[in-house]
Amino acid sequence: MTERSSDSKLSVIAGNIKRIEENIEKAKLAAGRTDAVRLMGVTKTVDPEIVSFSVRNGVTLLGENRVQEFLDKRDKYEGQPEVHFIGGLQTNKVKYIIDKVKMIHSANSEKLIAEIDKRAANAGITMDILIEVNIGEEESKSGVMPAMLDELTARVAEFGNVRLRGLMAIPPVDVNGSSEKYFEKMYRLFTDLQSRTSGDSRYMIDTLSMGMSGDYEAAIRHGSTLVRIGSGLYGQRIYR
Ligand SMILES: *Cc1c(COP(=O)(O)O)cnc(C)c1O
Repeated sequence: MTERSSDSKLSVIAGNIKRIEENIEKAKLAAGRTDAVRLMGVTKTVDPEIVSFSVRNGVTLLGENRVQEFLDKRDKYEGQPEVHFIGGLQTNKVKYIIDKVKMIHSANSEKLIAEIDKRAANAGITMDILIEVNIGEEESKSGVMPAMLDELTARVAEFGNVRLRGLMAIPPVDVNGSSEKYFEKMYRLFTDLQSRTSGDSRYMIDTLSMGMSGDYEAAIRHGSTLVRIGSGLYGQRIYR
């Protein structure tokens, strides 16, 4: 263990985990929800010792953003966490992660999904994916425009080695610093997708990935089933 991961730092992280788990339960209760909301620890820039500590303390689902950083760190993770890829993914990098993650949240084009399908077939697996939606329709952001979603979700069924599990978004904040209206829109797209695909075994739409450190409780009130928390768990990121 490095000096940086001192006991006091670890006890702060243990406290963060406990508090966030409690807040998730409170937000569910307030929304009258009894279904599951998964907590994901977002590990970018976090030392692997710290990540392992969080896994031991119950954060058994991890989100990775960067291919190279993940490949460098993954052998040091203890406790066999479930890992999802959540960052921007270039098609030429899919082959490096295909057999190392359980889900890809950032599927945002047919080209990328075709590559995931091809690499999954080579690996003899079916990869679970979420389609990333550009819910704020921002030109500078990645993700599929809401108007294009129906067409893309229909196309996904034609790929034999990917299975669509739902949707993901990183919404903008409005002038009041709130993402609530975008969470609401995402929930509507999600339930539409569920009803459109129900009974079709090529789909299993059960995951709505939205909500981060600053807004996960609001996201849960609007139907999120998976919240992605980085700084709220591990502290402010130090880029080096
Ligand atoms: C960094 C990141 C998060 C976590 O952000 P925090 O505000 O630190 O909780 C969640 N999702 C994605 C895609 C991210 O890149």
